[in-house]
Amino acid sequence: MTIAFLGLGNMGGPMAANLVAAGHDVRGFDVVPAALEHARQRGIAVAPDAASTVADADVVITMFPSGAHVLDAYRDGLLAAAQPGTLFIDCSTIDVADAIAARELAVTAGHHGMDAPVSGGTVGAEAGTLTFMVGADADDFASAQPILEVMGGRVVHCGGSGAGQAAKICNNMILGISMIAVSEAFVLGEKLGLTNQALFDVASAASGQCWALTTNCPVPGPVPTSPANRDYQPGFAGALMAKDLGLALNALEQTGTAAELGPLAARIYQRFADEGGAGRDFSGIITVIRENSAGTPSDDNPAESAKVSG
Ligand code: NAD
Repeated sequence: MTIAFLGLGNMGGPMAANLVAAGHDVRGFDVVPAALEHARQRGIAVAPDAASTVADADVVITMFPSGAHVLDAYRDGLLAAAQPGTLFIDCSTIDVADAIAARELAVTAGHHGMDAPVSGGTVGAEAGTLTFMVGADADDFASAQPILEVMGGRVVHCGGSGAGQAAKICNNMILGISMIAVSEAFVLGEKLGLTNQALFDVASAASGQCWALTTNCPVPGPVPTSPANRDYQPGFAGALMAKDLGLALNALEQTGTAAELGPLAARIYQRFADEGGAGRDFSGIITVIRENSAGTPSDDNPAESAKVSG
């Protein structure tokens, strides 16, 4: 199997390296020379340009920052340079509408196309344990599955074109909203005199239980592996959460979904990313909530009388 891999960044680099380790003939390309050099050091054969990367490939995988990058690359020669019937798998996280448009471009050019975004971050990309969410025809899914299984621990066929992106966007909207909810609850608990450990012990085994609490806990201590224990080094960066919630916002508007928390979470994380949180783990949102809550309640403030005594 000859695989062309374009976009050898934080995710694409290790994903392509895992395909090489599994014995595939992988040719890689990136527009940034440093990414190309890093890929070469990982044992990936790099090509001088995009067209020669895909020329004799059976499968073309793209892992780009945005939908515009994917559509531009498809239109600017990638589809034309590939042999007829090539399978194009886009693993980038992009708008549902862009994913559907990309697949249509591929099919019109005589190829197969699908969306297969991932979750699991750079750790999952290195370890080959990503979750793939796939939007594809049944036959195309069957062709892609063995390749995706090399890079992932779980490969889910979510439906037709665009369904993979839809699943990714919906999941991350849950995640963004729930991280804000968990963080607000911890800050409220602190204000009420509750220890973080006490709230964790109750909520992690009660109806407040969720991944944002039990795996990516935004306070240091209860979950020693969470980014809060290393000054919010990502993890899952605030910039990526802001991006994914922006995609969710687009989808909410395009579908007329009457959501209130999704758009609010998108605004909160965009501000977080703009004001210093872009490179921090998204659980660092708790530091903003805590800063905004600073100040001692005055005597006439009912919050003071609500404080747990002793
Ligand atoms: P990145 O910026 O590190 O890598 C993207 C790479 O694509 C860059 O090296 C860039 O130079 C390259 N590129 C852009 N246009 C190109 C072109 N036309 N031809 C060749 N190369 C091109 O980003 P990343 O962190 O690897 O993320 C990639 C995608 O995966 C994004 O859509 C992101 O939302 C998604 N994602 C990232 C993570 C994460 O934790 N980093 C997790 C899940 C999903």
